[in-house]
Amino acid sequence: MIQISRPIIDEETIKAVVDVLRSGNLAQGAKVLEFENAFADYIGVRHAVATSNGTTALHAALLANGIGAGDEVITTPFTFIATANSILYTGAKPVFADIEEDTFNIDVEKIKEAINHKTKAILPVHLYGQPCDIKAICELCEDHNILLIEDASQAHGAEFGGKRVGSFGTGCFSFYPTKNMTTGEGGMITTDNVDVAKRARLLINHGSSKRYHNEILGYNYRMTDISAAIGICQIKKIDIWNEKRIYNANFLSDSLKNIKDMTIPSVRDGRKHVFHQYTVRISSDFPIDRNGFISALEANGIGCSIYYPVPVHMQEFYRKINKIQPNNLGMTERLSKEVVSIPVHPSLSQEDLNKIVSVMVDLNE
Ligand SMILES: *Cc1c(COP(=O)(O)O)cnc(C)c1O
Repeated sequence: MIQISRPIIDEETIKAVVDVLRSGNLAQGAKVLEFENAFADYIGVRHAVATSNGTTALHAALLANGIGAGDEVITTPFTFIATANSILYTGAKPVFADIEEDTFNIDVEKIKEAINHKTKAILPVHLYGQPCDIKAICELCEDHNILLIEDASQAHGAEFGGKRVGSFGTGCFSFYPTKNMTTGEGGMITTDNVDVAKRARLLINHGSSKRYHNEILGYNYRMTDISAAIGICQIKKIDIWNEKRIYNANFLSDSLKNIKDMTIPSVRDGRKHVFHQYTVRISSDFPIDRNGFISALEANGIGCSIYYPVPVHMQEFYRKINKIQPNNLGMTERLSKEVVSIPVHPSLSQEDLNKIVSVMVDLNE
């Protein structure tokens, strides 16, 4: 089976974890600090605060920016549920803006329509590893005095205009095993703002900078040294792995571009897309429907998946809180019915790539 995603754990990583286990220092300690410094350097920011996962990074990042009850945060409905949930955790209201057809990312024009006096922040996602239109979003934030928190959970190493995502606003990353780099479970907050970094550090550690003195209501969202030891090894390899993802994506696009009634991913100028996912769109004119397409790939030993079949605003829970259905999210609703992600991860062999291509070409005939 060619899996849809697969973490790379080499001998160096295994040894690093064993060393931590032998040391007896299992909770947060020197390894976390070392990983935070390496990650801050990599993203190009002054501060990085490690967390227990990407969801807790988002929650703490929003709180560290002062987001709470009465505030609105504009985000995309075409994302993993954690993006919007993190807004709800703070008591603020997620306001959904529709997406662009070619990138699947939040549409700046739709953000403009959603801004009002309650808008406190914009929380865009760099979906599938392609930076969203972050420069235009930064300008909007400046013009309207709005905060920017980036969900870069799928975009470690992605760049806009040569600058890494997660360095434009407060950045949030996930190191779940399916992501471009992993720590098992884990997350990171990145920022140039020392006050945001300080508050985030308090929030993830029970509001305490001095043991058993608790200044604010905080949480236990700490990363362990075991996870950090994995992260220190992974960050050294991320660029090599991303290059392999890009190579794989280019190979797939070259080989699949002539398939009728299927759209291959497009990358906008000036952006480095790190292909967390390689996502095609199956149109209704394709010889088989999307479910048939997925079944056929799986029957040929090729794992694939739909990210995401149900937009956030259509999830049962969000329907309940949003009693009136937003009726302006048509692009999201359409694309959620067309997308399929196929394997692109760095462990694919040339043989795997050839097989994926030949199975897909056959399906189109
Ligand atoms: C993975 C992911 C998260 C959540 O990260 P976890 O580490 O699983 O909590 C949030 N947002 C997006 C876009 C993600 O892909």
